[in-house]
Amino acid sequence: MSANEDSTNTKTNTDGKNKEKVFCTYCPSKMLNAGAATFVTMEFALPYIHHKGEGENNQQETITDYWLVEDMYTFENIGVSHTVGNVKYLACADCERGPVGWHDLATKKSYIALSRVKHE
Ligand SMILES: [Zn+2]
Repeated sequence: MSANEDSTNTKTNTDGKNKEKVFCTYCPSKMLNAGAATFVTMEFALPYIHHKGEGENNQQETITDYWLVEDMYTFENIGVSHTVGNVKYLACADCERGPVGWHDLATKKSYIALSRVKHE
């Protein structure tokens, strides 16, 4: 594996896994344990974060840095919000803010945006 000077690399171990635990940005809910996810880059447009009840926000943001989670059971806590086509958006299990990522119904893989979660 080649050295990556990108700033996101500080969040990964040498094997590309998350070095720190992953938490919700808005509450203490833990989503992933350290080493549970793999860093991947891909372009995917996620709707902006909104709180349940605030109504749908149609604006999207293209995010490229994600934690890949192979199995839904790997999550400590995760919530699902609405489904669009083959994609189920993921939100915090406790405060329901999201989307923090998405779940691909075809491949059963989940992706959590690094910019939408807290690392500690
Ligand atoms: Zn939360």
